[in-house]
Amino acid sequence: MNDPPEHTIVISPIGDLKDTSLVNLISREIDRIFNQPTEIVPLLKDVNFALDPVRNQFHSTSILEKLDRLSPINSMKVVGIVMVDLFIPILTHVYGEAQLGGKACIVSTYRLNEGLSLTNSVHIYHNRITKEVIHELGHTFNLRHCPDNFCIMHYCRTVKDVDGKSDQLCRYCKTLLEDEIKKLAK
Ligand SMILES: [Zn+2]
Ligand SMILES: [Zn+2]
Repeated sequence: MNDPPEHTIVISPIGDLKDTSLVNLISREIDRIFNQPTEIVPLLKDVNFALDPVRNQFHSTSILEKLDRLSPINSMKVVGIVMVDLFIPILTHVYGEAQLGGKACIVSTYRLNEGLSLTNSVHIYHNRITKEVIHELGHTFNLRHCPDNFCIMHYCRTVKDVDGKSDQLCRYCKTLLEDEIKKLAK
């Protein structure tokens, strides 16, 4: 495998995630918001190493650490996308997790189809996943949770919150992101 060009954001579908229309949408949206090249690189076959047999869920922080270690050396960020249910010990579940100001983040599609019948709501489902990918990547660029309900960096507890926010950064977060990207480009 050739190393992706420098400053690439690596999208890493994990396990059974093989929906190319979803992965392409994510790639386009990352390019639109972060203005960096993307590359699709499956870094992990499965996340069974992170299974907590008591909770029957997967520990997202251990997956993050592994993605961080496996990510191509000159890549800027890596986002893993899994279909299994993720948790961190203090919460019942998470839609995703990120290393704040770090390299890796992860999103789970598992709970994002809530309330949808997938035959006619595929685009809503894909939009939810894509918004969460942008949100978690935002954290890796040092963005924190934003009080603006419409900002993509707004913290979402339910899928209703996810549907309610836009697919944009507010002006404040956008400025912070631009400053952060300038720093990384040096
Ligand atoms: Zn967040
Ligand atoms: Zn904001």
